[in-house]
Amino acid sequence: MAVEEKEFELRRKVAISTRFLAHLGILDYLGSVSARLHGSDRIWVVSAFGTRNPSRLGTKLRDVVCIDLDGRVLEGDQDPTFEWRQHVEIYRARPDVGSVVHTHQKMAKAFGIVERDILPLLHIQSKIVAKPIPFFSSATFVSTKERAQLLPQTLGDPYVCHLRNHGVVVEVRVVEEATINTISLEQLAEMTYITAVLGKPRVVPQADIEALAAATSDLDTWTYYSHMVPTEDLE
Ligand SMILES: [Zn+2]
Repeated sequence: MAVEEKEFELRRKVAISTRFLAHLGILDYLGSVSARLHGSDRIWVVSAFGTRNPSRLGTKLRDVVCIDLDGRVLEGDQDPTFEWRQHVEIYRARPDVGSVVHTHQKMAKAFGIVERDILPLLHIQSKIVAKPIPFFSSATFVSTKERAQLLPQTLGDPYVCHLRNHGVVVEVRVVEEATINTISLEQLAEMTYITAVLGKPRVVPQADIEALAAATSDLDTWTYYSHMVPTEDLE
């Protein structure tokens, strides 16, 4: 596949991810999704919130712009998301990262605010919290270079981080994985809360988490969710 075709596909996936994270109510109007081709510094990121795309549910290809590591728009006629710096500084620091998702999702954010661990309680979702997620103090926007450069130093493994009083950041190799991990994180946070109210939460054993991760694919889950939103009107 030619580079242009690969980038078109990335742009399309960023738009679809934005649509269904909005559909699930976990993106928030200031949340953002981005992707880059491995080995490239061309980053496809959702545009700034505005009147042209007020719901995010109707995100089109034209609402995903290409920027460089300094935030200059290379393709597209809109400004990138206001928090573009946290995307580019993660890409700059982590050459293996191919996608970043930043949300203001409610349940995961609550755990970040009180600095409590989200537990591995759900079978295939548990891998995202197999290790505790670090906390990054972030009541304000991550909108300056100095603050954004601190973020990659805090990220865990897999690369997930609470932005305390703000939201979460998930970044991995591909859009599909980053998106599904973001959804899993919210489901796990909700289940951790519910089970703690009901009784003593029992976690999925580490060996089972590894076996489930080896036996399942985020691509299947991506396919399931991406059919929740229309995709025939992206252009
Ligand atoms: Zn934010």
